[in-house]
Amino acid sequence: MDNIAVRPERLAEEVSGLLTTLGVDSSALRGGTMQVRTPITGEIIAHLRETDRSDIAQRIGLAHAAFLAWRAVPAPRRGELVRLFGEELRAAKAELGRLVTIEAGKTLSEGLGEVQEMIDICDFAIGLSRQLYGLTMGSERPDHRLMEQWHPAGVVGVISAFNFPVAVWSWNAALALVCGDSVVWKPSEKTPLTALAVMALFERAAAKFDGAPKGLATFIIGGREAGEGLVDDARVAVVSATGSTAMGRIVGQRVAKRFGRSILELGGNNASIVCPSADIDLALRAIAFGAMGTAGQRCTTLRRLIVHESIYDLLVPRLKQVYASVSIGDPRDDDVLVGPLIDAAAYSGMQAALASAKAAGGIVHGGGRHDEALLPSAYYVRPALVEMPDQVGPVVEETFAPILYVLKYGEFDQAVRLQNGVPQGLSSSIFTTDMREADRFLSCLGSDCGIANVNMGPSGAEIGGAFGGEKDTGGGRESGSDAWKAYMRRMTSAVNYGTAMPLAQGVKFDIA
Ligand code: NAD
Repeated sequence: MDNIAVRPERLAEEVSGLLTTLGVDSSALRGGTMQVRTPITGEIIAHLRETDRSDIAQRIGLAHAAFLAWRAVPAPRRGELVRLFGEELRAAKAELGRLVTIEAGKTLSEGLGEVQEMIDICDFAIGLSRQLYGLTMGSERPDHRLMEQWHPAGVVGVISAFNFPVAVWSWNAALALVCGDSVVWKPSEKTPLTALAVMALFERAAAKFDGAPKGLATFIIGGREAGEGLVDDARVAVVSATGSTAMGRIVGQRVAKRFGRSILELGGNNASIVCPSADIDLALRAIAFGAMGTAGQRCTTLRRLIVHESIYDLLVPRLKQVYASVSIGDPRDDDVLVGPLIDAAAYSGMQAALASAKAAGGIVHGGGRHDEALLPSAYYVRPALVEMPDQVGPVVEETFAPILYVLKYGEFDQAVRLQNGVPQGLSSSIFTTDMREADRFLSCLGSDCGIANVNMGPSGAEIGGAFGGEKDTGGGRESGSDAWKAYMRRMTSAVNYGTAMPLAQGVKFDIA
């Protein structure tokens, strides 16, 4: 087991300093019962107070009142508030990015990237605030106009996962705010501090805006039960929930029971196919980032590699070398590529999956823990590469850790069958220079995922496209393209500008 260098200074002090700079009153970090840890050392960095049920109901009430006022503000003006918020994010990028790194354990470059993603979605939403367009259709009745309008939906509840502690909220919130909705956020109990910081930055922006109602964007702190407070409240028109499929299965059904709307962004089990004509050097770089980046803790992480038998012995030994040498350690260090797992449960989940893969005939390379004695509460692992004889056991499940299962294929259609042969349907990719293979993969006969890429890995999406996946991934879409429609309600309207009263479909109903 090799050693890694983790700087031992007290992270609680650094966190407190960062939060103060970002506008959070440091008294919020003490006195509660909810422990917040940094995965870098495993130490406790705050004790937060959980929001109780009556407080949750009250904040939703406030958000609902804010919605009633906000919906009447012209959309481009609503975009102005998002612009001001984007400016706050630009000014605070370094501090917020570092806080993401400390709280979620991703590398500094990825922490900063997450804040950049927030800035990007704000820019997108500002433009969108002038493009919330409906359609007009040719009416079948003379002297009639038929049209479709989009109106604000109401309160949007956002439940987010630990691995994108702030970006996921911003994908939802930036769109919801320009669409005329208010937002109540339940961040992950593993990463609530970054949420406090983002809320403080939003308050700064709101203070510069003339006419932002109180409670327009607010938050609640807690775990599953706090989330349920949002899920079951009929005043919350849309629940956007990001997390595991197990969570989404419960949330989706509970929201549907009260005829609320949900946007579900759940687990993935993403694959890449490497074809005989692939550019191997390019593929290696993409596979390394896709499978090991964020320590395998992205919903779009590459988890299955489907390699043509003719290039298997060329690619896999090189991949093993990369896996054996990738730098693991303190994510604040520039030369580190793989930081820690989020917690002990993530580590034991990884070890259980590796044991089960071995039992199913897999050959495991890597996967061991580092510095257990030095850092008993921090979980640094060497990413694991597992050569599998078949797509069985843990390969069809999402284990939220850096494990890449490698499978061989002979015929192209077999590779596509393997790619689609899991319950999840988030992201996928193919490495090929054969245009027939590439286009077949993107066609309706190819990948069944919400995202399908060519000559790149499955992770690292841009905000311009709609983000989300099919099957057990939940079917939701967020971020770019026309994902905004999920935050609005559609109204179809017909206007009669004539003097007759014709009915559709030629129906007659003539009264004397
Ligand atoms: P998780 O499911 O444990 O928790 C996610 C959030 O749901 C947390 O805020 C949690 O408190 C809340 N929650 C859990 N049960 C709930 C319930 N019954 N009612 C209301 N809220 C509830 O997920 P995690 O460990 O934080 O994150 C990892 C998972 O998230 C992975 O499966 C990953 O693939 C997925 N994820 C998906 C996307 C996507 O866009 N598809 C993005 C990021 C993460």
